[in-house]
Amino acid sequence: MSKVMYTSYMRIYRVEKREIWEWIEEQDHQHRRVLSHHEHAIGELVMLYLDQPVDRIASDLAEVSDYFLHEAKHPISEAEWAMWGKYLSEISCKHPFFLLVEQLFSKIYQQYQQDIDVDFNCFYHLAEQFNTLQNTLKEQVSRYLNAKSIKTTALENFMDQALQDDGCFSSLTMKPEIVPREYLCDFSGALPMPCDFLQNPMWKDHDYALTRVFYPQTPIEIGDYFLSLFLQEDVRFKICKNCGRYFAVMGKSKREYCTRIVENSRTLRTCMNIGAARLYNSTRAQHPARKAYMKVYKTLNSRMRANRMTKEAFTLWSAEARKKRDDCIAERITLEQFQEWLSSH
Ligand SMILES: [Zn+2]
Repeated sequence: MSKVMYTSYMRIYRVEKREIWEWIEEQDHQHRRVLSHHEHAIGELVMLYLDQPVDRIASDLAEVSDYFLHEAKHPISEAEWAMWGKYLSEISCKHPFFLLVEQLFSKIYQQYQQDIDVDFNCFYHLAEQFNTLQNTLKEQVSRYLNAKSIKTTALENFMDQALQDDGCFSSLTMKPEIVPREYLCDFSGALPMPCDFLQNPMWKDHDYALTRVFYPQTPIEIGDYFLSLFLQEDVRFKICKNCGRYFAVMGKSKREYCTRIVENSRTLRTCMNIGAARLYNSTRAQHPARKAYMKVYKTLNSRMRANRMTKEAFTLWSAEARKKRDDCIAERITLEQFQEWLSSH
């Protein structure tokens, strides 16, 4: 009986304004199952990749190549494969693009089992490409994909500025596939899902979409995929007003804050939550009851300082006025009632 062969790989696709990536396991080139499924707002995967400590990950990857090239005794034992597999899957957890590491590992493991010559320099090359990808994305985000030039689209910017660059896209491994529009249950990865949509009756009555599914092989391809997607959908990048880092918006969006989780935040608040709280506070500060209160406050305060009102009377007034003002903001009394009270005191 021959051994069952498993391969794992990543796929990325888009349904409406969401980017979806999945980790797929294939058994004997036949049955495919989704082992994990994640959804992000469009542009978010690139936004998060810009922050990755790619240099450190590159040196971790170099260590793997070094070991297999110089230290490993052949044949490599199953225990060693398992150990390095675990080491690499920890790297892959940091960002979905790093799943290419696990994908490559799964491939060379297969090759080694089948006595095919393995190029163990592969992790060096991969590390280099992760660095290139980050630099390329940073440059694109600050040039063609920058939301500052709001008058033109991302594509027009690209056509203006890309003349001196190599404006070609690599040939991507993309296939039209039918995918579910949304997962039926909260997908935790605990239960593998069949992903051959057409062959699974369970999906038949479910809402589906035809989309181009991307099977990345290298970090460079990932860069090309996202650049073409962003140009097509007019996705641009802005600097977040809270953390000062780039985030993605579509078209002429007025959003000012990103969706990153604020560091040291115990409640997992995002910059967007903070932005909403700031907006709430600034609208509260502009509440007409505050303005009305401040106007009378200033008048009475100068009256007190000119000794035309006692300090006690002023303190008494301001305490009561603040209470009435807060009642008004909380809509316990109307603005008219508050103003009436102010003018009668
Ligand atoms: Zn932010």
